[in-house]
Amino acid sequence: MVRAPRIPRPGETVLGTDVTEHPGGKGSNQAIGAGRSGAQTVFVGALGDDAAAARLLTELRGAGVDTRTRTSPVATGTAWITVGDDGENVIIVVPGANATVTELTAAEREVVATSRILLMQQEIPQTSMVDAARSAAPGALVLLNAAPTREVDPDLLALVDVLIVNEHEAADLNGSSAPAGELAARLLEQVPAVVLTLGAQGSLIAVRGSEPVAVPAHRVRAVDTTGAGDAFCGALAAELDRSAGELGRPDAGRGRSSRETGRSAGGSDSGAAGELLGRLVSAARFATAVSALAVQRPGAASSIPTRDEVLKSQAA
Ligand code: ADP
Repeated sequence: MVRAPRIPRPGETVLGTDVTEHPGGKGSNQAIGAGRSGAQTVFVGALGDDAAAARLLTELRGAGVDTRTRTSPVATGTAWITVGDDGENVIIVVPGANATVTELTAAEREVVATSRILLMQQEIPQTSMVDAARSAAPGALVLLNAAPTREVDPDLLALVDVLIVNEHEAADLNGSSAPAGELAARLLEQVPAVVLTLGAQGSLIAVRGSEPVAVPAHRVRAVDTTGAGDAFCGALAAELDRSAGELGRPDAGRGRSSRETGRSAGGSDSGAAGELLGRLVSAARFATAVSALAVQRPGAASSIPTRDEVLKSQAA
């Protein structure tokens, strides 16, 4: 990240004031979030054979994440960000190694197949995401954070249990903007459950066949909301994993997922829908507390608190 008095025009040179380097990438940030929330987390993806990779691995492992990354001959993915003093920014993302993840290896499929939760973001090719979602055990929950915005392959959406999007991403997926309740209702035509995050307004949890539930954000003084969504997604996944454990689903292969139950019409699956809604609301409350702490600190991954910090803040 480079700071400059203002963003240069094409062909112009300006003097910058500050250069900093931060670990990032949505997958990495969310894995760090899940790890700090106490979930047994495995991170699958690709890194280059370079200094950036070494720093990312240190960050991930520091959060307790089991890193099963491949080493690509291409450089680690990077984002080159210029921030002007007026707060404007321009960003160039170079996917690098991330673009090489076009399908999963047998070992990676095995990791997914033995997990209770699969959480994906859109910074790797969709072919590998479809591959991963297909590898998920029938009782596992497949979560897609459809960020950054890009067209989502219908084959992928058909495999998703819970779609997590902010208002912009929801509007992009719907093709137009609308009030939150309407956005969620329209997305429910494509997936069984939606978590719509609304910044300082909190989030809306919608499950097909149930009334949506609003989870208000904490009233805090935000100093840096970069990565608020990543903090939220990682914590949400970790808490869903915890509730799966409490429901006595020690291995992922038992029970039916909402992919199977949520799609069938009629009332016989209302119990499953109600259970998923309850788990999602409770996970969203925890994720809301995590992201409320994260936005009060500068940075993205580095600002995500541990589960203990969250519990302490709630007790205070
Ligand atoms: P994204 O970073 O993907 O755009 P949001 O801005 O919707 O995601 O933020 C995700 C979550 O982080 C929100 O649902 C909310 O719980 C929390 N959050 C974001 N901004 C604030 C804020 N200013 N104050 C309190 N909580 C916030």
